Amino acid sequence: MRIPGYSTLEELEKDFGFSIPSETKKKLEKVIKIHPMFIPKYYASLINWEDPKDPIKNMIFPSVSELNLAGSYDTSGEKENTVLTGLQHKYKETVLLLATNRCAGYCRHCFRKRLVGISTKETLQIFEKAVEYIKSHPEVSNVLISGGDPLVLPTEVIEHFLKELSQIKHLKYIRFGSRVPVFYPMRIYEDEKLLEIFSKYSTPERRVYLVTHFNHPKEITGESKKAIDSLLKSKVIVSNQTVLLKGVNNNPDTLVELMNGLVSMGVVPYYVFQCRPVKRVKVHFQVPLKQGYEIVEKAKQRLDGHAKRFKYVMSHKTGKIEIVGIIGNEIYLKYHQAKDYRKVGKLFKRYLTPNAGWLDDLEIPSENRTKVLTAQVWA
Ligand code: SF4
Repeated sequence: MRIPGYSTLEELEKDFGFSIPSETKKKLEKVIKIHPMFIPKYYASLINWEDPKDPIKNMIFPSVSELNLAGSYDTSGEKENTVLTGLQHKYKETVLLLATNRCAGYCRHCFRKRLVGISTKETLQIFEKAVEYIKSHPEVSNVLISGGDPLVLPTEVIEHFLKELSQIKHLKYIRFGSRVPVFYPMRIYEDEKLLEIFSKYSTPERRVYLVTHFNHPKEITGESKKAIDSLLKSKVIVSNQTVLLKGVNNNPDTLVELMNGLVSMGVVPYYVFQCRPVKRVKVHFQVPLKQGYEIVEKAKQRLDGHAKRFKYVMSHKTGKIEIVGIIGNEIYLKYHQAKDYRKVGKLFKRYLTPNAGWLDDLEIPSENRTKVLTAQVWA
């Protein structure tokens, strides 16, 4: 699928009439040589190129901060959870398929920077092998097809995925992870065949879900609403994952507007992710946990129940950890999901340091100062 867009700085300079100083340009070229730039035309039209702090630009236009190498390329332990090429099995109920390394646009904050838009051996080679694996694991209740972005694949390939997976009786639902509603919404509402396929395979026995990725209210446009509406009419259930990003949405007003906008168009706010300490991302985008918690809680004070159904979590290699609360310099955390299922529901505390942005940055209380609390999990 050919998506109209920009992959060089010159194309942007020409179309939007700006000029990047040569020293900065050299640095940006260095960045995009390693992690390619691709800005879909539609998404570029949402940017105010005269505003150096434009939040949409910050997410998609490269920055010299990406030359900072602090962090890691695999913060969620994806390599160790890979059981077949392109298939990860971290939580017992869920299998994750990396269906492609391509996306409709390349987010500068992507946590799979190590593979998107570049040559990789990490994506799925033989889909039938994945199907065999899922068939032989009855504990798997759902499959997440991600990447990259699976909606950039040809419609026939998406149909093949749905047809094969729908024959596995123990699957309760099938999910797609996609930012296409944000980057290139017309790919959805203009493709009648795709909508027909979704409608055919999303049944009362096995729903099709699409988890999308809106980070800022400016991304909610007439076009993106039309894409979401087409998905809903095709019986796809749509939820959203937001990443808390410095210079994009790190203030309560933006989060309030975003969550209200999502609910209005029928999208369920699912997670707000703490930005992972990814190489070339951490320094540029990560908000300290203390600040993040304050922003999220201030936003929640102004949101109704539907708009604050999300959880604020760190997707750590040990599991999804909810940031439950902060009292003084103590931060309370809970395993919402865990690689070791016995940890699910476990409440624990750590000591905050001012710039801590990830579980591994937090100080573990010494044994004689604290006891680990175990939460009762109410089903
Ligand atoms: S669309 Fe998703 S996978 Fe692709 S670059 Fe953005 S965050 Fe990464």
